[in-house]
Amino acid sequence: MKRSILHVDCNNFFASVESIYDPSLREVPCAVSGSKQDRHGIVLAKNELAKKFGVKTGDTIWQAMEKCPGLRTVEPHFDRYNKFSKLFKGICFEYTDLLESFGIDECWLDVTGNRKDALTIAEEIRCRVKSAYGLTVSVGVSFNKIFAKLGSDMKKPDAVTVITEDDFREKVWGLPAEDMLGVGRATLKCLRGHGVYTIGEIACTGAETLRSWLGKSGEELWKYAAGLDNSRVMRFDEKTPPKSVSSGYTPYRDLENENDVRILIYALSENVAAQLRRHGLCCRTVSINVRDKELNHICRQGHFSCTISDSSRIAEKALELFRSSCGISAPARSLTVCASDLVPYTEEVQLDLWGETQREERRDNINRAVDSIRKRYGYGAVCHAVIMQDKRLGMFDPKLIGDAHPVGIRR
Ligand SMILES: [Mg+2]
Repeated sequence: MKRSILHVDCNNFFASVESIYDPSLREVPCAVSGSKQDRHGIVLAKNELAKKFGVKTGDTIWQAMEKCPGLRTVEPHFDRYNKFSKLFKGICFEYTDLLESFGIDECWLDVTGNRKDALTIAEEIRCRVKSAYGLTVSVGVSFNKIFAKLGSDMKKPDAVTVITEDDFREKVWGLPAEDMLGVGRATLKCLRGHGVYTIGEIACTGAETLRSWLGKSGEELWKYAAGLDNSRVMRFDEKTPPKSVSSGYTPYRDLENENDVRILIYALSENVAAQLRRHGLCCRTVSINVRDKELNHICRQGHFSCTISDSSRIAEKALELFRSSCGISAPARSLTVCASDLVPYTEEVQLDLWGETQREERRDNINRAVDSIRKRYGYGAVCHAVIMQDKRLGMFDPKLIGDAHPVGIRR
């Protein structure tokens, strides 16, 4: 049966939510950004007026101000975004429980077989969210998730775009390759290197060729472009296990020496390990991503012979990667620690070849104790001693500690 998929995307979400609390923000170009003082001064979101001046997400405040001298900046309030995320998804949920969130401000809905047709539902959601909360959304309506997502990007704000099996070649194939989900920076570079610039050109390249360039993901990409994506929309309460867990941070000052790096690596690893344990997972691979003063990215990866969910071991590995990579040296501007190759935690797989049973068991017990202390007294109640050397470097913004920030979970 032909499917009816919607992708609902809130427009300028952070900025729109902020202007619910302070309506004067609607009248001026405005950007939501981290605090200037701690150098988190990066534009997280902007409103339409700021967009007209060329202000982009990811600009530093300084760049944004240069483009738009009258720009008003406000600090983010994640509690507010979570609240309105639940509210607008609540309206969507009235139409189906096949509702898959994609970040805080987007979701897919599968409304196949619904009494109302997909376009009617899309229009209703658009109008209802706007009148109930003053938020505008754009909605893509299509027969698969990839084109629904693409559709929601095509016309905004406050619009509905339909892409059908009959007109997708006409509507989608002329768009740049990077507009499609799954085309990241590295993929784009590879495609361009082969002279492939549009979604249509991806489709015409064929699965075999794309596979030879990009491996398995190349074949996926071809399916997407050719309109053959058949991935399902998950139920609202379904969770796929994470593929990786990462934690990254740009501290208030550059990391000047190895000790600074050590402090931050321990703090990030702590975060990663806590998330792994929360999901009942262990990792086999640890990678670090370092951004230096010139903003070059350097990435290094290392493997364990056994599976790990202990922060010290993750940190030791990350430090080893940092030290052994001749390309990396302090000062560094930001650092990310990532755990991947994840497997479910079982007691047997924790043992390695030398049978360090007792030591692993002890680590396990300590970690469990730490987790339960944090559950009662907050994340900051326990930390590695090394972090105490420079709490500001290692402990992040207390507002960000605890839940989703700054941990990234890729599924
Ligand atoms: Mg959005």
